[in-house]
Amino acid sequence: FNVPVAVNEPVKSYAPGSPEREAVKKAYKDMFNNTIDVPMYINGKDVKTGNTRTMSPPHDHKHIVGTYHLAEKKHIDDAISTALEARKAWSQMPWEQRAGIFLKAAELIAGPYRAKINAATMIAQSKTIHQAEIDAACELIDFLRFNVQFMTDIYMEQPESTSDAWNRIEYRPLEGFTYAVTPFNFTAIAGNLPACMALMGNVVVWKPSDSQIYSAKVIMDVFKEAGVPAGVINVVFGDPIMITNTVLASPDFSGLHFTGSTDIFKKLWKQIGNNIETYKTYPRIVGETGGKDFIVAHKTANTKQVSTAIVRGAFEFQGQKCSAASRAYVPTSLWKDVKKQVIDDVKSFKMGSPEDMSNFITAVIHEGSFNKLAKYIDQAKKDKDAEIIVGGNYDKSKGYFIEPTVIVTTNPKYTTMCTELFGPVITIYVYEDKDYSKTLKLVDETSEYALTGAILATDRYAIEEATKALQNCAGNFYINDKPTGAVVGQQPFGGARASGTNDKAGSSQNLLRWVSPRMIKETF
Ligand code: GLU
Repeated sequence: FNVPVAVNEPVKSYAPGSPEREAVKKAYKDMFNNTIDVPMYINGKDVKTGNTRTMSPPHDHKHIVGTYHLAEKKHIDDAISTALEARKAWSQMPWEQRAGIFLKAAELIAGPYRAKINAATMIAQSKTIHQAEIDAACELIDFLRFNVQFMTDIYMEQPESTSDAWNRIEYRPLEGFTYAVTPFNFTAIAGNLPACMALMGNVVVWKPSDSQIYSAKVIMDVFKEAGVPAGVINVVFGDPIMITNTVLASPDFSGLHFTGSTDIFKKLWKQIGNNIETYKTYPRIVGETGGKDFIVAHKTANTKQVSTAIVRGAFEFQGQKCSAASRAYVPTSLWKDVKKQVIDDVKSFKMGSPEDMSNFITAVIHEGSFNKLAKYIDQAKKDKDAEIIVGGNYDKSKGYFIEPTVIVTTNPKYTTMCTELFGPVITIYVYEDKDYSKTLKLVDETSEYALTGAILATDRYAIEEATKALQNCAGNFYINDKPTGAVVGQQPFGGARASGTNDKAGSSQNLLRWVSPRMIKETF
């Protein structure tokens, strides 16, 4: 299997005066000052229903950047039937051709579409340019490139043969069609979920998050230009319940690739269970869901490293990463220094529109999220066992802005130590130095989720103790680093418990879920 060696796309700096900064500034301006009308994309055709909804940037919610069209049930039925029709040719296509299409998509994003996909992500999801670059450009490019390598790893996995019996495995795509449900928070995940299933020969009905349709449109344009044939990836928008009910009622439904909330994933799983007699084959279910990710500092940790892990882990992209640090455990002996550094850092952050590239914090995704966060912040202001040491203000007059907020609690089971908020709020519990082992036990007991976590320490025994005690608390465990920012090809990503099925994004293990191996024995 001779494929190009996958390399991570270098992150561009966007330093003042750099050509990439000028290009993205221009793209942002052009896109922000015009409107687009986003059709659905079914069987290689743009589908407009006339039943539309508007799109606005979270940091400027009165400003309209476009509209998108909502499906009726018949459009979902069409998407399913045309996908099944397209499957006939796509599933038989030589793997090199499928690989070539997605490698081309990677190069289109790396080159001509880079400024556009970054600007779209800044507008639709309120990412800063740096957060857009590491997501919509680099991570999506990496997924597309590395998937091809993971695919060949799978194809190479073959049994032993003898001179009179040739044993070989054919990695067939799943029989039927697959369903991708993607989140707002990573343009890369939105692109990867349908792309990796299609790469393995599957056909897809893809429902992006309403909040990400504006940047999903750029992904679709890239896939089209790269040569994904009509019907292979069909994009639908609209009432999620109607769409899901229609998709999951089909006897040909064969797999769900989901990233989003724990609640919705559980609902979909139950629904699939209830429909099980309907299906021709047991559907594959892969999901990455919530997180309540932790940072534990040991008394031997470097305080600067602890405060940096806290502020970067908790506040980059307004804490709207499944991996974001949202609870921290700091020993008394380090607290004074860590507290000062965290407060100084947070006070130095500028908040505002991503168009001003000196801003570090922008808006949260929508009003629902804003209201939820404001409610928890207000509660913390009242509660005796909580204190807000920095932040705590919010304002939705222009955009959904929540100040980065640090709550300190004397109760290790305080609500915001246990509940996922998905925003720029972290809660810190200060523990007695001597209670390190007790604290690790507490972290385990309160880890309903198990996505990411970090231990910061210089003492090797403390690191080993945490690694062991927290074995089941994080699918991605970081030693002396922040718990966010997994890189494709370096840190495959995913968690267990309420955080998902742990079929690591960015790994051959994930792609293996999208094939159904056929064992062929031939005798001579
Ligand atoms: N892979 C991302 C990270 O490591 C998080 C993905 C997510 O939020 O779903 O930060």
